[in-house]
Amino acid sequence: MEFKFAKRMSYLKASEIREILKVAESPEVISFAGGLPAPELFPIKEIIEVNRRVLEEDGQAALQYATTEGYAPLREWIANRMNSTRGTNFDADNILITHGSQQAIDLSAKVFLDEGDTVLCESPTYLAAISAFKAYGCKFREVPTDDCGMIPDALEHIIETTERVKIIYVISDFQNPTGRSWSLERRKRLADIAEKHQVVVIEDNPYGELRFEGEALPSVKSFDKTGCVLCLGTFSKIFCPGYRIGWIAGDKRAIANYVLVKQGADLQCNTIAQREISKYLELYDIEKHIEKIREVYRKRRDITIKSMEAEFPQGVTFTKPHGGLFAWVELPPHINARDVLVKCLEKNVAFVPGGSFFPNGGKENTFRINFSNMPEDRLVEGIKCLAGVLKEFYDN
Ligand code: PMP
Repeated sequence: MEFKFAKRMSYLKASEIREILKVAESPEVISFAGGLPAPELFPIKEIIEVNRRVLEEDGQAALQYATTEGYAPLREWIANRMNSTRGTNFDADNILITHGSQQAIDLSAKVFLDEGDTVLCESPTYLAAISAFKAYGCKFREVPTDDCGMIPDALEHIIETTERVKIIYVISDFQNPTGRSWSLERRKRLADIAEKHQVVVIEDNPYGELRFEGEALPSVKSFDKTGCVLCLGTFSKIFCPGYRIGWIAGDKRAIANYVLVKQGADLQCNTIAQREISKYLELYDIEKHIEKIREVYRKRRDITIKSMEAEFPQGVTFTKPHGGLFAWVELPPHINARDVLVKCLEKNVAFVPGGSFFPNGGKENTFRINFSNMPEDRLVEGIKCLAGVLKEFYDN
């Protein structure tokens, strides 16, 4: 059979890094590579209880088809939570439940992008968002980004000089891959610029709840006067990613279009999963659960940063995130992180080289470190080993 694949398949290619990192899945590897939450924090006992309660109380409805928009009490909880933690003004009808926030990215592309449109993103940005957008034949423009977010004048200049800018994709808190967050001022400016130029902002925020220090900042959405900002959220990092339950929140006219494309994609999200999460929120204190996650990750962040400070050779710089799962390392320009990875894998240590987080290529002297998924002693051992390999590159 000679398959005649769609043109979009030519936009996508298997990541060579993913192939290399398959070896990182074996238990002896100290892996800083994935973005996995700590599985020992999944509330399994409580989930057994909510599963039983959901099935006993309304098993037939829990196992039946349901509306595309999602389970109403869950949508209402999400709207209330966002209003109290992010400064938004949503009600349940502003929310569509999606298969993780990843599906919300894909649906965003489907709703807004025609082939040849341009997506603006931070530099660097989330790898799987690049893949999702790419499948719709878009171009990327990376907006110069510093420790406080995109640089507003640069953003505005790019919008004014680039044709068909349709989406500005940002991760406002503890960004993947850098761990950086947007300042309050930049959030306001982004909302103003998007409004002025009538461009949609997709504000992706899977990590905002995982703040270890400092004051939570309102979302970009809270400064939006015309509905141009759409927010993505997820239960993956505050509950369990295996449920695959996330959401998109925004202007009802936009949400109506997302509902249409979701009907074609999968009709709806898993009914019982939505009801189980909703029952969990009713029976247990998620605030306490999130605090437990923050505590564990805060310690892991501290030990990882401390070890990098103590062990990494001079000239290696890294972010010190105030929350989330990731730190970002920059090596001197002559060192390629892919070469470092090959050497590290020989010693059973893995991470993700930074080059693939730049949609138009670049910065091969960078890499991402995940600190949420391993106990502290393994983090220390891994950083020591990584530092040893880095020193070899300095000696050459
Ligand atoms: N956005 C960002 C920035 C992410 O880092 C991730 C997952 N790591 C996602 C979206 C997707 O998460 P999920 O589909 O599990 O909600």
